[in-house]
Amino acid sequence: DPRIAGISSAIRIIPDFPKPGIMFQDITTLLLDTKAFKDTIDLFVERYRDQNISVVAGVEARGFIFGPPIALAIGAKFVPMRKPKKLPGEVISEEYSLEYGTDKIEMHVGAVKPGERALVIDDLIATGGTLCAAIKLLERVGVTVVECACVIELPELKGREKLGGKSLFILVEGE
Ligand code: 5GP
Repeated sequence: DPRIAGISSAIRIIPDFPKPGIMFQDITTLLLDTKAFKDTIDLFVERYRDQNISVVAGVEARGFIFGPPIALAIGAKFVPMRKPKKLPGEVISEEYSLEYGTDKIEMHVGAVKPGERALVIDDLIATGGTLCAAIKLLERVGVTVVECACVIELPELKGREKLGGKSLFILVEGE
């Protein structure tokens, strides 16, 4: 798709952030480029409209940027999947491992119903731990995860393999 090149070049790479050796893929410059940002949302909307998806689940924090415009355009609700202790209501949570230690994501009880069809969205997949936890959380409450979608994949980290065969749609590859 001819729109991909513009999206790719609107993503800024910041070396050694947040620590030495990390090439951080900065999507805030994509948000400044009105065409590239719109093309990003349009590509997801074109793929997910007419798929009977009633839930777009966005992972904190940058899934909160890309998820809501997609949800509005396809007529789905937006469900935030948040870091621990942020959501005020009753939550269910899923722990996942990081390079050092563990982290957790949470979702409000009652936000989704068994049998609903969900898209999980985040800006980037690295090791796949975050998306894997999001899938588990939704499946635990009887939701079908149709697909995961990210703007960027870091293929060298093989996060895709952690998704238990769940399909992953991405727009650009980073390194
Ligand atoms: P994973 O769980 O796949 O290892 O890491 C993915 C999570 O870390 C995503 O929520 C993503 O926002 C964040 N992340 C890791 N590296 C980067 C990066 O280089 N750029 C951005 N924008 N997010 C990153």
